[in-house]
Amino acid sequence: MNNFMFLIMLLDCLAFFICTFTNVHELEQDLPYLKEVVGFKKTYCKKCSNYKPERTHHCSVCDKCVQKMDHHCPWIVNCVGQRNHKSFLLFTIYSMVIFSITNKPIFSLGLSFSSSDPMTTTNF
Ligand SMILES: [Zn+2]
Ligand SMILES: [Zn+2]
Repeated sequence: MNNFMFLIMLLDCLAFFICTFTNVHELEQDLPYLKEVVGFKKTYCKKCSNYKPERTHHCSVCDKCVQKMDHHCPWIVNCVGQRNHKSFLLFTIYSMVIFSITNKPIFSLGLSFSSSDPMTTTNF
């Protein structure tokens, strides 16, 4: 393993732990700019029965509200929201880099099914 791969794997693990253990369900309750908006109505979540800021959605898996929710990711067992969007994006990019470098032989398996090569024969 060269230094580049080690660095990418280290950054990937770091981004994974950050986006997994970030508490995305903690909402900013007092947004100062919202008080100045004329006609601003407080919205409540019917499931949590709590006040929720704008662009907040309720996650049915976590059963909690998430600010600027993107989706619930089963790979990180957490929601992707405002607080961990950047680390989730970095995690997917680093994972794609690692996958594309380390799994090159797997991509070429489906292209050549010759019986001479023991790696590509399908004798089950
Ligand atoms: Zn909710
Ligand atoms: Zn969720």
